Amino acid sequence: NYSPSRMSFNYGGGKTGRVPVGINPRRLRIVVTGGAGFVGSHLVDKLIGRGDEVIVIDNFFTGRKENLVHLFSNPRFELIRHDVVEPILLEVDQIYHLACPASPVHYKYNPTNVMGTLNMLGLAKRVGARFLLTSTSEVYGDPLEHPQKETYWGNVNPIGERSCYDEGKRTAETLAMDYHRGAGVEVRIARIFNTYGPRMCLDDGRVVSNFVAQTIRKHPMTVYGDGKQTRSFQYVSDLVDGLVALMENDHVGPFNLGNPGEFTMLELAEVVKEVIDTSATIEFKPNTADDPHKRKPDISKAKELLNWEPKISLRDGLPRMVSDFRNRILNEDEGKGL
Ligand code: NAD
Ligand code: UDP
Ligand code: UDP
Repeated sequence: NYSPSRMSFNYGGGKTGRVPVGINPRRLRIVVTGGAGFVGSHLVDKLIGRGDEVIVIDNFFTGRKENLVHLFSNPRFELIRHDVVEPILLEVDQIYHLACPASPVHYKYNPTNVMGTLNMLGLAKRVGARFLLTSTSEVYGDPLEHPQKETYWGNVNPIGERSCYDEGKRTAETLAMDYHRGAGVEVRIARIFNTYGPRMCLDDGRVVSNFVAQTIRKHPMTVYGDGKQTRSFQYVSDLVDGLVALMENDHVGPFNLGNPGEFTMLELAEVVKEVIDTSATIEFKPNTADDPHKRKPDISKAKELLNWEPKISLRDGLPRMVSDFRNRILNEDEGKGL
């Protein structure tokens, strides 16, 4: 799908230089912001695996070097410790913009979604790179339409505790569309629904990581509220395939990327119990403010235009994250001298 200029290197100022002799002309130089995080590190593995050059920008707010350590000796890989809230000069063909404090315990008070997105759009504009924003299903808020289509505008509290995240992502989408319309930047917008898998933060409070870690530690699973709220859970490799399909296609989006299987938190706890430890138990805790009651993606648009749909069910995906979680929990315990 790429024009000849996309297959060569950009040298800045919007000019595209000749491909240096001896370098594969199809190889792209790609920046992944937030590449040391959960989703980012799996995306980087895929891009490196297909032969591209990858530059990761990460401030290690929630990301970890361990997620990328296996790539440190690869000459096509580079890691820069940098906060995307500050400007940066790079010469790249594509930008996957994932940097964002992505869970309730981390995302409060952080301007990354606005300032970081603005800087990456400025970079995309300067070098003529294609820019992909990882937005979120949270832009739909506590939805009044179910399942959610991309045409739904959402039901979001602008001043609540979650607003920094969901309104931040809504602003990021607005900025992306403004740069697309106003400056001709090629943008792609993904609205990601709850995703799980190996390398998820152990302690960022998301439901799948909490339930799996609690079960491995032989603690009860903490169900918030009555546990009847629903979510749809997508395995990380399905998401990464969707992000790459979106970047490589001609459609701006937004596109929902999620698994349409819908589970209550009580049903999720039951599946964790079945596939990880049949002796697991649950306990009820009060719910957080503004918790959406239900969420499920309508993915017809991505199916039709990107030819993408998730392949891995919750029952198949959950066991794939257990050994990674077990190892990290064991290391943590050893670190504490237990
Ligand atoms: P994550 O916390 O594992 O990764 C985010 C990464 O961004 C981390 O490595 C963190 O250190 C980095 N980061 C944060 N602020 C930064 C800054 N100012 N400068 C540079 N780096 C910074 O989270 P994730 O689950 O991998 O999420 C990746 C993206 O996908 C995020 O944009 C998130 O909003 C989006 N998303 C994820 C989910 C999900 O379920 N995982 C759902 C919806 C949207
Ligand atoms: N920016 C950046 N790297 C670049 C180009 C721009 O970090 O290669 C930042 C720039 O510092 C600014 C933001 O992106 O804060 C928006 O840039 P743009 O050129 O669109 O806006 P302007 O600087 O004209 O206000
Ligand atoms: N949740 C829960 N127990 C936990 C953590 C979360 O029951 O230990 C619930 C939470 O109240 C929400 C759902 O699980 O209804 C999904 O929460 P998460 O933070 O994983 O994702 P999001 O709310 O962003 O969809």
